[in-house]
Amino acid sequence: MEKEGSPQLKKEKELADLESLFSKVLDNLGGERDRQGLENTPLRVAKAMQFLTQGYDQDPAAIIRSAMFDEEYSQMVLVKDIEVYSLCEHHMLPFFGKAHLAYIPNGRIVGLSKLPRIVDVFARRLQVQERLTNQIRDCIQETLDPIGVAVVIEAQHMCMQMRGVQKQNSVTTTSAFHGEFLEQRTREEFVNLISAKLH
Ligand SMILES: [Zn+2]
Repeated sequence: MEKEGSPQLKKEKELADLESLFSKVLDNLGGERDRQGLENTPLRVAKAMQFLTQGYDQDPAAIIRSAMFDEEYSQMVLVKDIEVYSLCEHHMLPFFGKAHLAYIPNGRIVGLSKLPRIVDVFARRLQVQERLTNQIRDCIQETLDPIGVAVVIEAQHMCMQMRGVQKQNSVTTTSAFHGEFLEQRTREEFVNLISAKLH
């Protein structure tokens, strides 16, 4: 017999706990608790929050390692406009936008679909945009060991736009560079490429 139960059972218990907690949250907000539409809301919110934080159970380095290939390509590999949806850790409200990633291979490349996947793994945790940016860079650097890595994220934060200062159209940009991208010339090439409308 396992002491802690299976991961599946643990998730089910977590879901039931979250449901009852969100039920209490609803009791404390608005006083419209009897409306039919709200009846199953605590369970729906619990499931949504489990989904939006599932990145804690996933290993981004393993995702990259699952698709690394020896290849002598040595120019910049750039994937831009990757959609990012995350939750800010201060308000648990969404922030979302685009990520642009680049690396310069050092004898190894990674399957291109893995880059958006690791963005999702880190984004589906409670985050600040700055740490999200650094974590993506560090994960690529540590697993693929390329000559350089660059990550830029542009995002809108609902905690700014819907509340607080209510700056409706502000976009926050963060960046993280490593290796060759610390050189101004390479960084400029990357920034020009992500700014250009090539498609
Ligand atoms: Zn926030």
